[in-house]
Amino acid sequence: MFLLFLRFVTVFISRNLGRSHTDLVDQSEEGSANCRFLLKSTRRSDQVLGGDEEGLLQFINGCEEAQNCAAWWNVFAGVKFLETDRKIIHCDMDAFYASVEQRDCPELQGKPVVVGGSPQSRSVVAAASYEARKFGIRSAMSCAQAHRLCPTAVFLRPNFQRYKEVSREVHRIFQTVTDLVEPLSLDEAYLDVTENRWGESSATKIAKQIKREIFMKTGLTASAGVGPNKFIAKVASEIRKPDGLTVVPPERVLDFLTPLSVGKMWGVGPATERRLNKMGVSTIGDLRALSPLRLRQEFGKFGPFLLDLSHGVDRRPVSIAYEPKSRGVETTFEKDVHDPEILFRILGEQAQEVALILKRIERRARTVTVKVKYSDFISITRSKTLEHAVSEEEKIKELACFLLKSGTDVGQRAIRLVGLSVSGFVPSGSPLQLSFF
Ligand SMILES: [Mg+2]
Repeated sequence: MFLLFLRFVTVFISRNLGRSHTDLVDQSEEGSANCRFLLKSTRRSDQVLGGDEEGLLQFINGCEEAQNCAAWWNVFAGVKFLETDRKIIHCDMDAFYASVEQRDCPELQGKPVVVGGSPQSRSVVAAASYEARKFGIRSAMSCAQAHRLCPTAVFLRPNFQRYKEVSREVHRIFQTVTDLVEPLSLDEAYLDVTENRWGESSATKIAKQIKREIFMKTGLTASAGVGPNKFIAKVASEIRKPDGLTVVPPERVLDFLTPLSVGKMWGVGPATERRLNKMGVSTIGDLRALSPLRLRQEFGKFGPFLLDLSHGVDRRPVSIAYEPKSRGVETTFEKDVHDPEILFRILGEQAQEVALILKRIERRARTVTVKVKYSDFISITRSKTLEHAVSEEEKIKELACFLLKSGTDVGQRAIRLVGLSVSGFVPSGSPLQLSFF
């Protein structure tokens, strides 16, 4: 019975996805005892074997144990992937600010150019030309350090007015293709071209044409990635730069991701990467082989999320929708809480959740706010706005606990609700914290 079901699922997935799922079957059989138990215990095997996609999703979704079993997770990921398959282009201008400067000032062409500020100031590198990158100069590095690496480099103060103009020009080209354009910063955007104004079904052709038009209109080059979702498209656009185009069709997603470093995954910064390395995980393929349970123990809610990504699953839509001004979570207690330790622990959990939200929306936040409602229903909020935006769980937690300790009557009055929110968003990749188009 179980094997029959498994066959149904794998055939269903391979047929629709054209993916090679031999490893899926292998792993599934390993976990078959668990799964058989699950099917039996939930008594819903008929519904599942009945065979529609909807029923399958409902079944797996509603089954906590199923999500802890690696085999099931693979099946689940395959279905989720199918469900959300789109045609997404991530377009990224090459060394944008530096390229604009070189274009506008011919004597800078072919020279190492660093946009940021004077090496004597405390400014950081906002962009470095490819000539400067050869010396190891990178965005977000201090200009002083950049100067040590390449004393002959030309250092310029950024001219954002100019960059914004060029950015608008590029954006207008995107708009001729589709309304579904989500800018990440002045020089980067996602486009959902599943349906588009050009009536062109090949996303690859669209990406080529966009690159051509950008070059014709601005004299600048862009690199593009084409994939079935935002995560894949973004990673793809970084593969070949400058002037690159990398296409990852759905059936190539797993092979494409397998050898890449886990640091390439959206939301995995240097700290998380080190933790994963310690677990023996250096590639996305390594991560895919871990059990969901192990990842959940290690990373909390971020664990299953990482696992989804390792399967190429990214359900975020390209959104032009309004950007919420703040995001956060609240916990209302069944009984009023006096013990500060409990509140600090809850804030810790909330910080984890908020950090995850920030990862999802690819933002950092400058303001952290703690809300407390006392047993008499009087609520207060305490905020702190920082010079440098944060997105790390630890920093958010530290700040939230500080606000709770210093700004509220914690320990003296009973509390019925505690909440943590962040606002003042800036794009996560932007060292200079620019606003959008
Ligand atoms: Mg760029």
